[in-house]
Amino acid sequence: MDKAALAARYARVKENLPAHVLLIAVSKTRTVEEIQALHNLGHRAFGENYPQELRDKYPLLPDDIQWHFIGHLQSNKVKYIIPFVHLVHGVDRESLLNELDKRATTAGRSIGVLLQVHIAEEDTKHGFSPAELRALIQRGDLTTRWPSLRFRGLMGMATNTDDLVMVRREFDGLAALRDELRQSGAVDMDLFTELSMGMSGDLEEAVAAGSTMVRIGTAIFGERA
Ligand SMILES: *Cc1c(COP(=O)(O)O)cnc(C)c1O
Repeated sequence: MDKAALAARYARVKENLPAHVLLIAVSKTRTVEEIQALHNLGHRAFGENYPQELRDKYPLLPDDIQWHFIGHLQSNKVKYIIPFVHLVHGVDRESLLNELDKRATTAGRSIGVLLQVHIAEEDTKHGFSPAELRALIQRGDLTTRWPSLRFRGLMGMATNTDDLVMVRREFDGLAALRDELRQSGAVDMDLFTELSMGMSGDLEEAVAAGSTMVRIGTAIFGERA
């Protein structure tokens, strides 16, 4: 690992990011040594998207790391991350809310969640449609149905395309939906503020559209193998 190159890439990403946007370093497939090197530079927020990989890395790394789970989560893997996860970004179905709440309650933890919304063209991406989300909140207050979960906002992934106008439109749609849900009464307005959007390739569009947390892998660690 080239520590100087890592430090230079990290500095460049931070330089271009407004201070109010949380930078989540996406460390999937990266070694414990690479994560430790970034931690040594003062970084604390990391994101992973494979539950077993995160479970295995967690005990090998400093316990002041704030772990974000950003991937698609199967219900039978929830147990691997419940003891320590800070925020679960990719919550895309009610059955997952049930499982997260059940496991969090048993563990005596209150866990932050972001509802994932399908904003891209690709069918391969996960998430509630805006209509599904509206139907969900019409059935009542989310916070009383899943008492061990704290609903913090929305997460979305834009279409993988060079058409940055389209990407910007998708992010703007996610921001508008967050505002709509905040006004709905189904979530705690003061808590439901986050917008997890933006990766290495569409960071600027996401920030311009009001992102509060960006998930950056390649631009910090280099190309994945
Ligand atoms: C891998 C991944 C990222 C980071 O992607 P980069 O292009 O490497 O910045 C962000 N979000 C999710 C959900 C990912 O799976």
